[in-house]
Amino acid sequence: MKPRPPLAPRKHLGQNFLVDPKAQQRILAACQLQADEEVIEIGPGLGHLTELILPFVKKIYAIEKDPRFCEQLTKKFPAEKFTVFDADVLKFDFTTLPPGLKVIGNLPYYISTPIIEKLIGYQNLFPQCFFTVQQEFAQRLAAKPNHKNYGSLSCFVQYYADIEILFKLPPSSFKPAPKVTSCFMRLNFRPPPFKVNNEDKLFTLIRTAFGQRRKRISNSLKPIFEKNTLEILKHCRLTGEERAENLSLKNYVDLITFAANLQTND
Ligand code: SAM
Repeated sequence: MKPRPPLAPRKHLGQNFLVDPKAQQRILAACQLQADEEVIEIGPGLGHLTELILPFVKKIYAIEKDPRFCEQLTKKFPAEKFTVFDADVLKFDFTTLPPGLKVIGNLPYYISTPIIEKLIGYQNLFPQCFFTVQQEFAQRLAAKPNHKNYGSLSCFVQYYADIEILFKLPPSSFKPAPKVTSCFMRLNFRPPPFKVNNEDKLFTLIRTAFGQRRKRISNSLKPIFEKNTLEILKHCRLTGEERAENLSLKNYVDLITFAANLQTND
């Protein structure tokens, strides 16, 4: 068997490197970096993005799971401008970093959802993120009601953030080329547009509805609202004939808020 070259991409770590200079320049422009800012990079890999960004910022804190790259990057970039943590981003304690930094990354696609969920936990510390992700994933995050891509993930992320798909990136922008089209997106965390007393209950409701997205909500929401289902729907100006994808985030907030009031008054 031929020995593997030492830095061959590891597929299981989602290693598709951003090699297209035009795509790199578009990403650089979109991030609107300031000379005095520090940024966090998730998954610097061989440093394609890092090298691009570094001249335009004060410092980069990078988090990389593959120790081969950590070693290489430490040698490549000056220590006063670059720190790499040899760590799994999903286990990383972001409170160890200065607050307010932009988070940038060509994300490993196999963990895009847990990375976003993790950052939601730090939304007050790091309000702005710029990511390369699989296009289909970004479309699910940004989808609006009555669209086939709209689902529980759309509602969950849109509760915490505004999402903007900035531009598409074809497979040829990367090496090795992934099988899917990618895109560059911005995620701006902000206070939820509608406050609820119990967010876990809201997201359980939404997941339950989308768990049976073809069913009418008068049926799919019964496991949650039980005998009060029709009363709650009616109060929230819904007929019950709707499907999960027809309801806006505000509809779900109204339902869970009224249901909680009903319980209190029982
Ligand atoms: N930023 C580089 C670029 O654009 O060319 C590499 C991007 S590549 C799509 C994703 C990177 O994330 C890889 O370097 C991979 O090793 C790293 N990675 C994968 N899983 C990770 C994890 N759990 N924590 C931190 N880094 C991870």
